[in-house]
Order: sequence, then C-alpha cells, then structure tokens
Amino acid sequence: NDVLLAEPRGFCAGVDRAIEIVERALTRFGAPIYVRHEIVHNTYVVNDLKAKGAIFIEDLAEVPPGATLVFSAHGVSRQVRDEAQQRGFQIFDATCPLVTKVHVEVAKLAREGFEFIMIGHKGHPEVEGTMGQLSDGIYLVEDVADVARVQPRGRQLAVVTQTTLSVDDAAQILAEVKRLFPHVREPKQQDICYATQNRQDAIKVMAPQVDIVIV
Ligand code: SF4
Repeated sequence: NDVLLAEPRGFCAGVDRAIEIVERALTRFGAPIYVRHEIVHNTYVVNDLKAKGAIFIEDLAEVPPGATLVFSAHGVSRQVRDEAQQRGFQIFDATCPLVTKVHVEVAKLAREGFEFIMIGHKGHPEVEGTMGQLSDGIYLVEDVADVARVQPRGRQLAVVTQTTLSVDDAAQILAEVKRLFPHVREPKQQDICYATQNRQDAIKVMAPQVDIVIV
C-alpha cells in the first residue's frame, strides 16, 4: 500500500516555540517546571517533557510558591495572568504570537467601546484565554444557530475567531454574523492561523486520493 505524507504536517511554529520554551526553562532552572495546560495535545511530547521534569497543571493552586510556570501556546485569561503574578511565580509566557495578536486586538477595541462575537469552541483553552481578556461584552458562538442568540448592548460590534477552527465552518458562521449584524467589524487579517489553514488545505487535496487519513 502507498502512504502519502501531507505537506505541511506536524507541529506549527507556535507549538514548536512553546515546547522549546519549556525545554529551555528545564535546562536553565532545572526540574520541576510547571506548565499550565498541556503544551500540545500530543501524548508523546507531553510524556517526554514529563520525564524531563515538567509538571502539567490546570489550576494555579497546584503550583507551589516561588515555582517557575510556563503558559501554554493557547494563552491565558487576564485573571490567570494576574493570579500567577500575585502568587509570585517566575512566569514564562509561551502564548503563540498569533493568539497574542487576537488578545491585543480585543483589548484595544474594547477600550474604544466595542463588544465582541467570538467564533470558537466552548471550553477550549484558547477560547477561555481570549474571552478572559474582558470581564464582559464578549459573546461566544459555536455554530450558525448561536448567532441569533447574541444580544449586544451597543452598536459597536467586532468579530474574532479561535485560531484553530475549520476555515469552512467559520466562514458559514461569519456569513450569518454579517447577515444579522451588517455593521460588524472584521479583523484586517483573519484570525484562523496560516498553519491551521495550510493543514486543512493539504487534507482537502489528499482526502479524495486515500482510503484513510491518520492524524
Ligand atoms: S495559533 Fe496557529 S501557529 Fe499558533 S499555536 Fe495555534 S495553531 Fe500553532
């Protein structure tokens, strides 16, 4: 049987960078290094880092005083960032710059009075981090039907997207957002990252040529 390899494949630059930050922290400061949330959803990588002395946590209460803490590529809410600072951890921020770009945009437009529709998946760490840049005025929509439930208080409305969505699903939801809120402000450059988009494009080319796809 023939095996086709997708191109591109493997980790994106954001995840590579996050893994390297954890490895450098381990080399420089020694184990243990605490990491908030699994740095990448890949058991082999996580187990390898665990063996080297990384401890993955979800709740900052699990981190002892004075410890070194890495934020994963998904980014964190303001509340998590503030709490980590208050607890006095040594912090290394491995948030992907493409996620930070969304955080910066949300903070900037919120200061100008905008509310937000966020297209994404409930409970995903990146969505929690981005929604958590604001205390209110950001509404999550997961599908087309959710859009009609959004009731913004004012007229200034912007849309942001989880970076790792299906481009096709997001396009349908965005079309509904624009239909119901024609004045909505869209990002200059879409938030779904190039790495996500390129991998989806590669799969679309491959899928008709193969019997099964292994991810
Ligand atoms: S935003 Fe894209 S490049 Fe950055 S970590 Fe997520 S998938 Fe990777």
